[in-house]
Amino acid sequence: MSTLKVHDKEFIPYITSQQIEEQVTRVAAEINKDYEGKRPLFIAILNGAFIFAADLFKKINVEAEICFIKLASYKGVKSTGKVITAIGLDAELYNRDVIIVEDIVDTGKTLSQFLPQLEHHHPASLKVASLLHKPAATVHSIKIDYLGFTIPDKFVLGYGLDYDGLGRNLKEIYQLI
Ligand code: 5GP
Repeated sequence: MSTLKVHDKEFIPYITSQQIEEQVTRVAAEINKDYEGKRPLFIAILNGAFIFAADLFKKINVEAEICFIKLASYKGVKSTGKVITAIGLDAELYNRDVIIVEDIVDTGKTLSQFLPQLEHHHPASLKVASLLHKPAATVHSIKIDYLGFTIPDKFVLGYGLDYDGLGRNLKEIYQLI
């Protein structure tokens, strides 16, 4: 099998672009069914989710909106460590059916901090769509309502996910050897 070198690390092909396409199509069909007659607001988390969000959104056939945000973490004043804040979240969430679009849920830390912040805006509903999930890495349990793939606790890149800035443009998903 051909390996791929990115920076100092070697990766092997793991999920083909055809498998990704199939799962994105399935996830979109589930969302289309669940949101019939509604107008969901997709909130895609940059940078990693940009390709998944674009491919997923193209397959959504109910009326829908999308916005992109970036999460930044900074050291809070308390000793509890980093605090997450959303940049670019200017949409009105009150009474909206919100779907968060993530590339991967790993430890669950990011969403465990971010989802309660969104609840403060009182959306009508709040769901999570993630392309990938590593259950073995879970520290904070997150309910993923729409999931592409369950994967083992190994680093992956491609299809929007990077390794130190590189690899986001790969059409397939690669796994660290
Ligand atoms: P969590 O807060 O769930 O631990 O981590 C979520 C974020 O960590 C993801 O949005 C992603 O940016 C990054 N991440 C976690 N696992 C991987 C991985 O295997 N590959 C890459 N490229 N990023 C990952």
